[in-house]
Amino acid sequence: MKICVVAETAPNESRVALIPDSVSKLVKAGHEVVVQAGAGARAHFDDASYLAAGASIAPTALAAHAGAEIVVRVQRPDDAEVTLISEGAVLVSLMAPASALDTVVALSARRVTALALELVPRITRAQSMDVLSSQATVAGYKAVLIGASLLPRFLPMLTTAAGSITPAKAFVLGAGVAGLQALATARRLGAVTSGFDVRPAAAEQVKSLGATFVQSDVVSAASEDKGGYAKAQSDDEAARTLATIAKHIASQDLVVTTAQIPGRAAPRLITADMVRSMKPGSVIVDLAADTGGNCELTVPGETIEVNGVQVVGATNLPATMPTHASQMFSRNVLTLLQHIVSNEGTLTIDLADEITGAMALTHAGTPKSDTPKSATP
Ligand code: NAD
Repeated sequence: MKICVVAETAPNESRVALIPDSVSKLVKAGHEVVVQAGAGARAHFDDASYLAAGASIAPTALAAHAGAEIVVRVQRPDDAEVTLISEGAVLVSLMAPASALDTVVALSARRVTALALELVPRITRAQSMDVLSSQATVAGYKAVLIGASLLPRFLPMLTTAAGSITPAKAFVLGAGVAGLQALATARRLGAVTSGFDVRPAAAEQVKSLGATFVQSDVVSAASEDKGGYAKAQSDDEAARTLATIAKHIASQDLVVTTAQIPGRAAPRLITADMVRSMKPGSVIVDLAADTGGNCELTVPGETIEVNGVQVVGATNLPATMPTHASQMFSRNVLTLLQHIVSNEGTLTIDLADEITGAMALTHAGTPKSDTPKSATP
């Protein structure tokens, strides 16, 4: 099987879909891997390390795509890149499915099978293929570091000859994969941590990380769908959620927000009034900036200041830690490739398969009829 790894062209994308360690495993399994020159450079994997892993280096995207039966990338291809993909090939990539209709139609016309990494089902068997989880881990960690660097104070308690320093208070809204990593990171840095989520399962997980769970009567099993995601709240539930957060947030120094509802705009959890209730010098890092923001004042890609409170509209944080983000992404992609290609090298796209079927946006010239749910890249 000929597998190609291309250089990302999206602005600010520094990750690579397969790192040399994964390439080496694919080559040992009998595959031919072609890497576009410089594809791993921004993640600090140079061409020489791919050559040492057994790949060949193609000078251009066109040359890398030539004859490739599987194309792996991080972000979905633009229009020009779609035309480089061999007819009938399999594309494995983040696809931002909610806005991918034109790309899916173009891929379908080339009979490309597009497997959207956002749509890996949340089942135990597919956990090791789940880039949303691996990349959320990176984002949750980095969000705390960004917040810590903007705070005008220490996170840990310090006892020094120059007096005692009280620890900062860090509050995480949305205690899923990114949120739990943010809580763990803030705690490791010495902050007094608290978390909030609408799913009851999150309460135990928050407490297991040494944080306080902010209680509310909106936390109930009915808040969670069958897939383990939160459901959108009614107006009444949303109002009660805001009331709970408003009571807690005024005393917090660092707030990291991660709340998402698949297929919808991010829930609004922090109003402008709540921001104004916080102490000057406090920081909010909004990881939901790409999907509308959890904070009313968030501007995606920008940091704004209101009454001395900085609000960071964080976008694509995994790309700011491209080495480990690529390592985790690559491991997820490798496991998926091992799922669709047998040990004998036979590629099988079985739409009845729980994993492949859920991910396929188009196959054999036919786009999937149902609208895919959106997900955060
Ligand atoms: P996500 O990115 O969709 O959302 C982040 C968090 O925001 C979730 O915990 C969600 O409950 C929370 N949230 C949504 N609306 C909220 C609101 N109004 N107020 C407060 N919080 C709100 O979710 P995620 O982090 O990707 O994962 C959610 C759960 O799924 C986690 O428990 C995770 O462990 C589980 N999961 C399971 C698998 C698997 O079994 N393969 C894979 C990944 C995640």
